[in-house]
Amino acid sequence: LTDPNFCPNPDSANLWCKKRRQQGKTIGLVPTMGALHDGHLTLVDKAVSDNELCVVSIFVNPLQFSQPEDFNIYPRDIQQDIRLLATRGCHMVLTGTLAEFFPAVANLENIKMLEPGPYAAGLEGLYRPGHFAGVKTIVDRLFATVHPDKAYFGEKDFQQTLVIQDLAEQSGFPDIQVCATQREVNGLAMSSRNQRLSASQRQQAGRIYWALLAARQAWREGVREATMLAKIMHLELSKEAFNIEYAEVRDPQNWTAEKPDHVMRKAQALIAINLDGVRLIDNMSLHEE
Ligand code: AMP
Repeated sequence: LTDPNFCPNPDSANLWCKKRRQQGKTIGLVPTMGALHDGHLTLVDKAVSDNELCVVSIFVNPLQFSQPEDFNIYPRDIQQDIRLLATRGCHMVLTGTLAEFFPAVANLENIKMLEPGPYAAGLEGLYRPGHFAGVKTIVDRLFATVHPDKAYFGEKDFQQTLVIQDLAEQSGFPDIQVCATQREVNGLAMSSRNQRLSASQRQQAGRIYWALLAARQAWREGVREATMLAKIMHLELSKEAFNIEYAEVRDPQNWTAEKPDHVMRKAQALIAINLDGVRLIDNMSLHEE
């Protein structure tokens, strides 16, 4: 095992990357908030195989949490993360404080947040006000720090991938690679937040996957109305003691805050629930790729 280089602040990471870019190396970036699991590691594996260098950022970004309590209890274990990354051939781990990411801003309350753009409308954007502005603002800093050729994001955070693709189009780089959602044996999407679930809650949470599968089955049988597909998911989710935030269908090619009322050719089913204080999200394409 070779330990990845550890850059404890964005300035040293920027220098590290600059030097390697000047040597003509290609760089793949995997932005994370740490507490790494196999879902994150599939992104890392792809970044390692696609690029000469793989950089992983670990930063629990306060700008994207609307609830300070949620930020405070977010799982963190950077030593274990670095050990895991060493086993996957990651070349550099980047971290830092908010002040180090925004050195020109004297008062951190005054950080200029980027407009999250049209894809932030509805769903996560509605239930987590300010979330996507916070995500986009920090990812923009990460892109500026690393200047990656490619950046890797999980489909698990589907709406986030749309917001980031929009950012990359505006910036002209990097190439955004979206990787499939990794799941537990019962279908539950892997998430750092799953650490906070008991064994029986993990079993219960598998129902989210069933609800998505039920919507996909209905789509395959010809159901095309977003409202009907949403009802099918709600029916399945109601079998567990979830607090459902949303269970809806969007047209990924025509994103709006509201449920689409046209006949969709492509559809994405998206769910957010709260299980005893743990917020879980998941989604699935209903159409054949
Ligand atoms: P996070 O640390 O939760 O911000 O996630 C960092 C990246 O890993 C994001 O692009 C996520 O979408 C991705 N990710 C998280 N969970 C999974 C999963 N179960 N499968 C694939 N990618 C994931």
